[in-house]
Amino acid sequence: MASPRVAPPADSILDLTPDAALERLSQWVAARGLPRFRTEQMHRRLWVQPIASWQDATELPVTVREALDLELPLRRLAEELSELSSDGTRKFLWRLDDGEAVESVLIPSGTRRTLCISSQAGCALGCVFCATGRMGFRRNLSPFEIAGQVREVILRDPADKPSNIVFMGMGEPLLNWPGVDTALTILNRPEGLGIGARHITVSTVGIIPGMEKLAARPEQFRLAISLHAPTAERRLAIMPIEKKYDLKAVLEAASAFRKRITFEYVMIAGKNDSDQDADALATLANKQGALVNLLPLHPGGAPGLEATPPNRIKNFASRLQARGVEAVVRRSRGLDIQAACGQLAGKSGGPTA
Ligand code: SF4
Repeated sequence: MASPRVAPPADSILDLTPDAALERLSQWVAARGLPRFRTEQMHRRLWVQPIASWQDATELPVTVREALDLELPLRRLAEELSELSSDGTRKFLWRLDDGEAVESVLIPSGTRRTLCISSQAGCALGCVFCATGRMGFRRNLSPFEIAGQVREVILRDPADKPSNIVFMGMGEPLLNWPGVDTALTILNRPEGLGIGARHITVSTVGIIPGMEKLAARPEQFRLAISLHAPTAERRLAIMPIEKKYDLKAVLEAASAFRKRITFEYVMIAGKNDSDQDADALATLANKQGALVNLLPLHPGGAPGLEATPPNRIKNFASRLQARGVEAVVRRSRGLDIQAACGQLAGKSGGPTA
């Protein structure tokens, strides 16, 4: 196995924020003595009306298209696999320029189309219930490699344009802050993909420096905490990150968010699903005003773990609700194609935060 890399490939025009890309294009246009309106025509083609290559920008002269292809090429993610689940969920496996692979999952539900995107190839954090954690860390994704997952889905079928984005694919987004910071701008800005901040959720195990940076952004992106246990001791048994950023400190950092936060809680038999766990979780959720998403454990994490039976999940949810917590039991989506939470492993046919 090749050793993990820490840096993504060199920047491209699609790795820049929309403002920085506009600046670069306008310099390019000026250097060639082209009329200024060409800058705006080119800029729209990055994210607003994306194209597969400059050759498709038929509003531009052929000579300009050819020069752009050579000098400011539009990067792509190679679709290696697209699998459709019997419940309509679609999983994509993208091959990156250096051979690494990441996955995205498109989950349609009514008029909403949520795309679950990856922020790293692999993950260093080793949560015991997660197949990505078992891959180990490969490298951070560049801004394009993150936002480009959405771009590729739109290029493939504009009708699939996601209405919501969740950073719950492979990797811990807040350990790749430079990439995620720029990708959030591209996703949200009208000159980018134009997806409202309240429709973009960053899910973290609780990387406190990254949470502080996210909280400092002016947009109201949503925050989900992968909590998975209501006490430090319980959490340490399934999430090694507890050693570095403990539960109490993570919850204090979460208080800086102006929007309501969500606790993600994967239900593991005998590990975090007792009545006492429910009561301790209710206390935390009430203190934070957090919504609780209860997730069934999916195959693919540690072999020794067992899923909490559905009835027990229901009782756990009822116990939370009886204590005034808004708790939702999430349906498993894409199980038959290994696209459900904790199952993305970056291989053909084959875990996540
Ligand atoms: S759950 Fe998230 S943070 Fe934990 S190992 Fe999986 S990808 Fe990494």
